[in-house]
Amino acid sequence: MTVDHDVVVLGGGPSGLAAATALAMRGRAVAVLERGNFGGPRVGETLGPQVGPLLRALGLWDDFIALEQFPFRGVRSAWGSEAAVERSAILNPLGDGWHVDRAQFDALLARRAAAAGAILHEGVGVAAITPAEDGWRLQAPGVELRCRFLVDASGRGAPGGAAGIPGRRWLACDRLVALVARMNPPADRPLDPELLIETAEEGWWYAVPQPGNTLLISLLTDVDLAVAAGPRPELSARWEAALSRTNHVRELASGATLEGPPRIVRADTGRLLPDRGPQWRAVGDAAVGGDPLSGDGVARGLRSALDAAADIDRALAGESLADAPDAASFVAYLDRRIRYYRMEQRWSDALFWKRRHGVDWESMPITLDPRRVLSWDGREPAADVIAPIEALLPPRAIRAVLERLARPCPAHEALAALRDAAPLGDRRLLVGVQLLVEAGFLGSQ
Ligand SMILES: Cc1cc2nc3c(=O)[nH]c(=O)nc-3n(C[C@H](O)[C@H](O)[C@H](O)COP(=O)(O)OP(=O)(O)OC[C@H]3O[C@@H](n4cnc5c(N)ncnc54)[C@H](O)[C@@H]3O)c2cc1C
Repeated sequence: MTVDHDVVVLGGGPSGLAAATALAMRGRAVAVLERGNFGGPRVGETLGPQVGPLLRALGLWDDFIALEQFPFRGVRSAWGSEAAVERSAILNPLGDGWHVDRAQFDALLARRAAAAGAILHEGVGVAAITPAEDGWRLQAPGVELRCRFLVDASGRGAPGGAAGIPGRRWLACDRLVALVARMNPPADRPLDPELLIETAEEGWWYAVPQPGNTLLISLLTDVDLAVAAGPRPELSARWEAALSRTNHVRELASGATLEGPPRIVRADTGRLLPDRGPQWRAVGDAAVGGDPLSGDGVARGLRSALDAAADIDRALAGESLADAPDAASFVAYLDRRIRYYRMEQRWSDALFWKRRHGVDWESMPITLDPRRVLSWDGREPAADVIAPIEALLPPRAIRAVLERLARPCPAHEALAALRDAAPLGDRRLLVGVQLLVEAGFLGSQ
């Protein structure tokens, strides 16, 4: 039997559950479809104090405070030098944050959504989505729903997770993945309530304490670099070898035992294009996935869900909505990220860091004549030569422009192809094309 709802939310992470709660609190009939289950392993466990007001708005504060959690009192970071620098949460006017167990946190959000009146379906796999008259039809084993509005909260790479909403694509700006492992320290060792960050040649590490006195330790690296890309059965050995080359994280993990092999989790920075349509809207990571370095994905997801719920409620009442914001804030975010990665120069020849340092595209003189005819002879660019260009242009956009230039065409047409693939501002893209010419990847006449 098909069940009708005002809104169906795809994805039961923090953003989807917050959107469902906020819409149900506004009296809307809402269902959530979660592919997996709410108690499964999830990442993103350190919450800054800015989540407090958002949880209050969702009616969750008292239950959240009652949850078992570790206080988050500051960051110790070896980024740019071997010595670790401490930044205490006491400097934050909002005070401490929290290290939560994400499975418990998400389960709490799920209970709140259900209490607000949302119908939750977990373990449904990936639903088939088809546009229907006045909305959408969704089918998964044992579930058949119809709704007027769809919320995509399916996380990074949303068109992959929620295929069926036509005309969308994910603009991935890098190849970052997290190799996440849980470790059990010796029982008599108390853990510090801090977030530890340390850079390495192949990426950067973070370690956080978890309720129950365990440690979550993650290496952020590129999916094609040796630690992540080698054979799966040897992943634990490669991860532990990489850990043994660190200083601070190794010291923290000394005597601790791995609970199981590391999980590989996608962590690419990217955005969905477009992130909304007349009868759907993406929220949280499904709309914009930030670098885990920012450490604010959950707060951003909750905020975007609350904002979207207000908009969707108005749309369901027949009001027309404002257009999507332009790309400027995402582009500014990418530039802030480059500046932060540039603060680590110790491994500037390593692929991971070259891909994130890049040139200063704003001040670099433009010398490329837009009428110059460019071509690509099909030779694959060497990874380390293309790396600094990848700091400016998403890898798939570079591929798109190279393929476009398999037939010679003027530089301004190459730029147009690039603009379609990656709308990140013309100057940045032009500098990217110029660098491709200067690096010898593109022939020119
Ligand atoms: C390594 C790492 C560390 C991080 N650390 C932090 C941190 O310390 N603090 C912080 O605030 N943020 C952190 N983040 C970011 C944070 O994890 C995310 O921003 C946050 O989880 C986003 O929530 P979401 O609900 O938008 O998406 P998600 O949490 O990704 O949830 C998406 C949900 O959708 C489900 N789903 C996917 N496809 C479908 C489908 N087709 N149908 C139904 N369900 C589907 C998934 O199973 C999942 O439950 C980190 C991210 C990474 C990768």
